[in-house]
Amino acid sequence: MSSLNEFLLCPFCGGKTRTQYNADTVLKAFPLYCPKCRSECEIEFEKGRITRINKVPDAKTQCKAK
Ligand SMILES: [Zn+2]
Repeated sequence: MSSLNEFLLCPFCGGKTRTQYNADTVLKAFPLYCPKCRSECEIEFEKGRITRINKVPDAKTQCKAK
């Protein structure tokens, strides 16, 4: 029995996010937000670690391009 819930760590600053995972958690195209450095990215997560990071384009810059 080692499926303790842990908090995902931010890939940028290493701080704890508010997202929890356990031993069986698999995430795909998951929007991860870090309350510490306020960065947002899309991640893939498997077997207890982040396997891929996709940066999310800033929504504010999209509004400008009208
Ligand atoms: Zn962070």
